[in-house]
Amino acid sequence: MTLAELGARVGRAPSVLSLLENGRREPKLSLIESLARALGVTPEDLMRRQAPSRRAQLEIALEEAQRDPAYAGLGLPRLRPGPRLPSEAIEHLLALFEELRRLRAKPTATPEEARAANAGLRAMMRDRGNYFSEIEQAAARALAPVGYAGGALSQGMLLSVVSHHGFTVRYVTDLPRTARSVTDLRHRRIYLRQESLGMHTPRAVLLQTLGHFVLGHSAPADFADFLRQRVEANYFAAAVLVPEQAAVSFLRHAKESRNLSVEDLRDVFSVSYEMAAHRFTNLATHHLGLTCHFVKNDASGVIYKAYENDGVVFPADVTGAIEGQRLCRFWSGRQVFAAADRFSPHYQYSDTPSGTYWCVASVDPGSERGYAITLGVPFDDARWFRGRDTTRRMSSACPDPSCCQRPPADLAARWDGMAWPSARAHSHVLSALPSGSFPGVDEADVYAFLDRHAAE
Ligand SMILES: [Zn+2]
Repeated sequence: MTLAELGARVGRAPSVLSLLENGRREPKLSLIESLARALGVTPEDLMRRQAPSRRAQLEIALEEAQRDPAYAGLGLPRLRPGPRLPSEAIEHLLALFEELRRLRAKPTATPEEARAANAGLRAMMRDRGNYFSEIEQAAARALAPVGYAGGALSQGMLLSVVSHHGFTVRYVTDLPRTARSVTDLRHRRIYLRQESLGMHTPRAVLLQTLGHFVLGHSAPADFADFLRQRVEANYFAAAVLVPEQAAVSFLRHAKESRNLSVEDLRDVFSVSYEMAAHRFTNLATHHLGLTCHFVKNDASGVIYKAYENDGVVFPADVTGAIEGQRLCRFWSGRQVFAAADRFSPHYQYSDTPSGTYWCVASVDPGSERGYAITLGVPFDDARWFRGRDTTRRMSSACPDPSCCQRPPADLAARWDGMAWPSARAHSHVLSALPSGSFPGVDEADVYAFLDRHAAE
């Protein structure tokens, strides 16, 4: 049917239909209904994102491929997928295009590039006080239809949020090792493994996955894009599990009674300690007028994740990257490992060259490796927090190497030149990242997995 024929059936000019066809204008519901009638399908058929047939899917993929800069750069005449072009030919072209794109893809970040990308992202987060209002709104919109009324999000509500976006969830035991979740876009099915890894509880992973779709992410263009998407998806998950409105009213109340605490936030919303502490940084500056910092480090002091807008100075390399650097021995995140009860909150004041901070550190028992999570604020703001009355006080002169990095002189005199330690292989944040559209994910594994489960 030509646009003119269809236009005659629905009483619209072909030019109007052309605007719709090219996505330049959104149709009214009444027009969708008349179009469906004229085409002999249901309005739902027209609204569905999924292609109606394998052939249509191939045609759409071919259109998209030709728009890709790598394809367009070849300067070939535009190929219209007319009826005389066999599906096998389109499949063949798409396979060639996929290979072209793979070869052209920027080699995935070297460790230096990855760390520079991380540093850039952290600077952007600091500028915004780690608050992303558009993601808060997306989370609020996702919660609105399921009748959320405060407190922890029930499993039933969580699944309603997911099904409201047209997805179903399957828990499996054979998820590819390199993936936290895999989504079958054809059947709109999210596969998860039923286990908990620190901040990445199955609930959080499910919402992080959904976040990519709700926020309209497409396959990451480069490593910086991949990182940004991951931050946004994690933010979305936290904003659904610890919703802004409920959390802010809880935190304001706690602040008024000078009883702010990460544990309470964790308990009220039933999330991991790490998520509660990190979520606090989203809301603290925008809603409570508090600057703060957050650090996640392992028992040897290596930093995995950090955020600050309170002026605390983290160790950094020449690219400005913090990940992989070692935290001062006297900071809470390391002191907590020496505490008699490392799973209880460890409160401490730390004098540093950039000022005195009050911090609470806790080892998140959810993770097998044992990561310390620290939340800290400038000295003056300790008064709003539970644990402000601690008498523990440490002094740190880092990055001055005489603080804790250089061995004490007497030890050095005894052992200099007489020690040969063999280093333990280090964390993935420091190693080269494997290439691919989704860094670190084994695509062959993922496709084989999807194939195994598609027929279920
Ligand atoms: Zn130090």
